[in-house]
Amino acid sequence: MYRTHNCGALRMDHVGQTVTLSGWVQANRDFGALTFIDLRDRYGITQLVFSMDDHAEMCEQARKLGREFVIRIEGLVRERSNKNPNRATGDIEIDVTSLELLNASKVPPFTIEDDTDGGDDLRMKYRYLDLRRGPVQSNIIFRSTLALETRKFLSEQHFVEIETPFLIKSTPEGARDFVVPSRMNPGQFYALPQSPQTFKQILMVSGFDRYFQIVKCFRDEDLRADRQPEFTQIDCEMAFVTQEEVLQTFEGLARHLFQETIGLELPTFERMNYDDAIRLYGSDKPDKRFGMLIHDLNDYAQQKGFKVFDSVELVAGICAKGQASSTRKQLDELTNWVKRPQIGAKGLVYVKYNEDGTFKSSVDKFFDAAALQSWADHLGAEPGDLLLILAGEDEKTRKQLGELRLEMGRRLGLMQAGDFKPLWVVDFPLLEWDEDEERFFAMHHPFTSPKKEDIPRMLDGDFETMKSLRADAYDLVINGVEIGGGSIRIHDRALQSKNFKLLGFTPEEAEEQFGFLLGAFEYGAPPHGGIAFGFDRLCAVMNGQNSIRDFIAFPKNNQGRDMMIDSPALVDQKQLNELALALNLPEQE
Ligand code: ASP
Repeated sequence: MYRTHNCGALRMDHVGQTVTLSGWVQANRDFGALTFIDLRDRYGITQLVFSMDDHAEMCEQARKLGREFVIRIEGLVRERSNKNPNRATGDIEIDVTSLELLNASKVPPFTIEDDTDGGDDLRMKYRYLDLRRGPVQSNIIFRSTLALETRKFLSEQHFVEIETPFLIKSTPEGARDFVVPSRMNPGQFYALPQSPQTFKQILMVSGFDRYFQIVKCFRDEDLRADRQPEFTQIDCEMAFVTQEEVLQTFEGLARHLFQETIGLELPTFERMNYDDAIRLYGSDKPDKRFGMLIHDLNDYAQQKGFKVFDSVELVAGICAKGQASSTRKQLDELTNWVKRPQIGAKGLVYVKYNEDGTFKSSVDKFFDAAALQSWADHLGAEPGDLLLILAGEDEKTRKQLGELRLEMGRRLGLMQAGDFKPLWVVDFPLLEWDEDEERFFAMHHPFTSPKKEDIPRMLDGDFETMKSLRADAYDLVINGVEIGGGSIRIHDRALQSKNFKLLGFTPEEAEEQFGFLLGAFEYGAPPHGGIAFGFDRLCAVMNGQNSIRDFIAFPKNNQGRDMMIDSPALVDQKQLNELALALNLPEQE
């Protein structure tokens, strides 16, 4: 037998028992007469003691055990004289009576402890070692629990888990597809799904009524900390539902998951329409943990002789509470921050509303105290506050202020860990006009339905009307992170065809790419809608972390590489020939 207990199990109750443990050597401390080994497995760490007096030969052997050696021991549980309150097994130790080496280990390239000295690349290359570390293991185990609770909740709500294929045809959801050549159909390609969108809609036509899947999705996009080329969604679809019912159901799921995994009761899910989110927060995913809303100042700041303000579409600002005492250096630094290319503002105007009621601003030459007072009043400022003002094109300026708001929130410690503020953003525009490409894009995806009251306008409105159409589309946002999004779908062939047309598909292209869906709509498609949560992101947000990588067992790096298996990689010419692919490959070694 390899073990009677795991390395996290033993307590004072076990004192006097003979036990068998197996695990990895985390640390080895040799004190001459005694050798102490910390033995680790995924459940915890147990201290082993080898005594020179009792078992000299074995103690010699123990001394030589290096980090990450795998051993099996037998011994007697005894009370420790020197207890370790930071460890669950810290009251006991094992007086070892027999030792077996199960496997040796090379010296690991970084320390396998909660705080490691390994850099990102090294840990990615030796992911199997990184995955031995406690914090990484608990992330992966958290993920497993979250999946289990998702399945529990959704199956209780009569959702059916159905697998959809990975080798499909491209479904445009805004990203590039990964493609897979077909050997049996030379010159033809499958695409890996960006999501199971069309399949889940087809399942509604088939009468499954409630579908879900915890499913891999693939998007060939540039990568960031919160993006991976393959990621996981909790993907769902429901028939005969209104937007309201979808929101209620998935609010229920989110509540259940927070309650059952981190024991937290989520507060009320607020709702905000898209226009307000952009206007007041400069973002379609507002962080509701703090206020600091954007206020327009055009009426108070324009036509007062300051050209910079007079020549722009929007002057707007935010109020940073209690920051009037900011130093010149801090304000210069903040100005540089908004001027960085990632933010792109031309400059920053500040107004200090001093404790004594006077004002000091960077535009004192152009505005008197009465004018500055009107700004302060409009922004709800009190003495001691700092106003930060940007000017420019409407959309851009709001976005910049949105970024500045988040930065001030970070600097002022307003985004508290453990504070979760869920928000539904609703009433998204149906279409988005792209100036460069001179065409409409679907704001959510091409299968999203306009609001019922907008359908007649969509069917025969003009170009400007199309810009004003609203969709039954919604996003769940928690703490400024988009957790998921979905929509009520079009289930009528004529309306779907019209949408494809607006999106620039010729009838032939629409038929070729989506004939199956349009066809299905002709055989009694029920009204339906759904949503998908980003599963990796949900894991990260629930744990107050930014990077989804830490919650994926085998993630890829920023170049989309798996450093452990060293992929992507070249394939040999024979494979290419079989696939009828002629590539100009770099010389193979
Ligand atoms: N397929 C959508 C997505 O991946 C989600 C949905 O509309 O249900 O974002």
